Amino acid sequence: MALMTGEQYIESIRNLKMEVYMFGKQIDCPADDPILRPSLNSVRMTYDLAQLPEYQELMTVVSPDTGKRINRFTNIHRGTDDLRNKVKMQRLLGQRTAACFQRCVGMDAFNAVYSTSYEIDKKYGTQYFENFKKFMLECQEKDLTVDGAMTDPKGDRSKAPHQQSDPDMFLRVVERRPDGVVVRGAKAHQTGALNSHEIIVMPTISMGPEDKDYAISFAVPMDTKGVFMIIGRQSCDTRKLENTEMDVGNAEFGGVEALTVFDDVFVPNDRIFLNGETEFAGMLVERFAGFHRQSYGGCKVGVGDVLIGAAAVAADYNGAAKASHVKDKLIEMTHLNETLYCCGIACSAEGTQTESGSYIIDMLLANVCKQNVTRFPYEIVRLAEDIAGGLMVTAPSEADFRNPKLGPIIDKYLRGVENVSTENRLRILRLIENLALGTAAVGYRTESMHGAGSPQAQRIMIARQGNLAHKKELAKAIAHIKE
Ligand code: SF4
Ligand code: FE
Repeated sequence: MALMTGEQYIESIRNLKMEVYMFGKQIDCPADDPILRPSLNSVRMTYDLAQLPEYQELMTVVSPDTGKRINRFTNIHRGTDDLRNKVKMQRLLGQRTAACFQRCVGMDAFNAVYSTSYEIDKKYGTQYFENFKKFMLECQEKDLTVDGAMTDPKGDRSKAPHQQSDPDMFLRVVERRPDGVVVRGAKAHQTGALNSHEIIVMPTISMGPEDKDYAISFAVPMDTKGVFMIIGRQSCDTRKLENTEMDVGNAEFGGVEALTVFDDVFVPNDRIFLNGETEFAGMLVERFAGFHRQSYGGCKVGVGDVLIGAAAVAADYNGAAKASHVKDKLIEMTHLNETLYCCGIACSAEGTQTESGSYIIDMLLANVCKQNVTRFPYEIVRLAEDIAGGLMVTAPSEADFRNPKLGPIIDKYLRGVENVSTENRLRILRLIENLALGTAAVGYRTESMHGAGSPQAQRIMIARQGNLAHKKELAKAIAHIKE
């Protein structure tokens, strides 16, 4: 089997016996839980679109290792075309789900671990690259969804991992055995862990020699003994329990994050990709972060397309579409959104080959991409709220709308232009509410700020990559300065 259908994917996740908690209770079947199901549907889209001939080029790749067609989410980028197509694929999926479709973290972890493990082996004669390749080929063959777990809880931010008063604030090796290691710790905000078959764990920061036990990277199945998840709350999440489609805004799709705990989990030797080579922790972090900062130049843009469209529809329904300031706001939203896309495409087009043969994005441009993402979606949301009007947060519930006495009143007074139903007007406003303030706001807003690293992390990389010394030389040459 090389490509799973959407239905096969859902079944495969249903068959995993994961340990999942939400609202203080263990969830027996997350795949059928009304709060969690929309997030599974989003990942499913990465399988459904891969089945369609019109998206074959974008969604799939012929593996140079096996000659078989694989999903692009399990691909190693072999050129700048691959890097660009990745971003285009993410924009498409953002457009189709208006949510986080989660599978990118694994793809980005794949590419970071592939190139880094190659370089560790070269220096130390270790087996990590072969271990990873075996794991990768299995994921490609079975078309698995893989999560990428980087963010440790980190405790006191002024202290290195080994200096923390609680040694588990960074995930670490607690026991070394001849056949593998036992790890303990947690990974916070884990996008899509719930909907993944496997999880790749990586360190979260650069490390010194004393952090040896913390410099660990590996992969385990999500239903491994000792791995469990505590699902993160999202704004308005329980609306999904109210049997209302309208009030949810996007009833079919969503994202999901979880605090993922590793409670003394055994990792066999052949699933280890870094183990104590502390000087490579930084390389792995930078590469994963770089790839995920590129990713946001695709996924957030696709979701932005939906939001811009929703604002334009709201303007039509309000009768405000011809107002010049509304047209101008839609232009501004488009300008901001396409600027993000430019960065995603640019850092891909300027990609270079790593020692392993795989391709990596231009780091400076990828960091500029993400830095823009920490700002522009906020402005796009602000403009969407401006165009939508206050009704997006004051409209009565669907239950009121369906009530025989109240429904006709709501229908009469909340109508906009004559030929559009009040129901359609409310539906588009709820979608904007969902993206701006509801469950999807996790992915479109706060994740835009902190996902793939908080803004300051990009500014450090921009400072490092910006080559200020070269710019000074340029200025001195033009000014005919001789020192
Ligand atoms: Fe993919 Fe975007 Fe979600 Fe990250 S935030 S997993 S890049 S959809
Ligand atoms: Fe993310």
